[in-house]
Amino acid sequence: MSAAILFATNTPKYSSFLVNLCRELYPDVKAFLPGEPGAENAQIAACWAPDQDLLIEYPNIKLIHSVAAGVDHLGETLLTAGLPVCRVVDDGQKMGMFEYILYGILNVQRNFDKAIQEQSIKNWQRYPIRKKKDIRIGFLGLGELGGYVSSQLAAFGYSVSGWSRTEKFLQDVHCYFGEDGLDSLLEQSDIVVNILPLNASTQGILNAQVFNKMPEGSYLINCGRGDHLVEADLIQAIESGHLRGALLDVFSVEPLPENNPLWTTQGVSITPHVASDASKPEIIHQLVDNAKKLAVEERLNNQINPTLGY
Ligand code: NAP
Repeated sequence: MSAAILFATNTPKYSSFLVNLCRELYPDVKAFLPGEPGAENAQIAACWAPDQDLLIEYPNIKLIHSVAAGVDHLGETLLTAGLPVCRVVDDGQKMGMFEYILYGILNVQRNFDKAIQEQSIKNWQRYPIRKKKDIRIGFLGLGELGGYVSSQLAAFGYSVSGWSRTEKFLQDVHCYFGEDGLDSLLEQSDIVVNILPLNASTQGILNAQVFNKMPEGSYLINCGRGDHLVEADLIQAIESGHLRGALLDVFSVEPLPENNPLWTTQGVSITPHVASDASKPEIIHQLVDNAKKLAVEERLNNQINPTLGY
């Protein structure tokens, strides 16, 4: 029997795009939109922020597959349904994340963000150039993305540290773990990069307590999830002059509402959840690969631990 995949994202346009791509790349795989004839036979749900009643409507689903790196958007009901949950891990996405974070670091290291502000008032202001090794970068999260980007930046010459739940050993990256480890990392980071997954233990982790432990004049890059950040605490930390600013890619509410004060907080740079993504054909390849593994009960790729939430 050929694999049957239901594409269940929160936008019909995106689901249709993925269905069409799947049909084009894998004509032997049955790709369905919700409600299409035959969709009830799907064994795999390919999801982004799906309907929480998905499994009631599609009882033959045996595997929940995120079409992204994160799984938080699946929601508690699907994460704890007792089915295997997989996600996408993509080398191209790791490179994209490296580029995004490097952009944020260079803005601070070389004061390019300040130069752009000076341009708006036609002010010729030269800033001192700081060397890479003098910039201390601290990563929250040393997984597929954080592990890759931190190692690349260390190899490039930055002073890099990282923090994770369990102990890690990465070449030229000073690795911390556990609660004490977090304090040690924060205290000596000029730039804190958050690339944690969102789960019960990381929600709201970027808060006033954390900002107070970061050095005077330090900077935040958040490319994890919006709900990691307590927005009011960040605005307060920046407006008090304690933090230099922040580069934010993700927000609790997306698109960021027009009346959100982050838009106009001096020192905050905003990008619309574009730090990095997996290529669409790669998403389809990984889905189909796991569909085939599921059919023959082989070990699935990139399966997450639903209890941990990543
Ligand atoms: P991953 O491979 O699952 O790695 C997660 C890392 O976070 C691991 O190092 C893990 O530690 C650590 N961690 C988790 N909970 C922790 C806790 N409570 N305390 C300390 N460390 C903790 O995830 P990934 O593939 O690197 O992706 C991370 C996140 O990036 C995704 O979940 C997604 O939300 C976000 N993302 C954003 C974009 C964007 O465009 N903005 C794009 C892709 C992904 P252990 O290794 O010790 O378990």
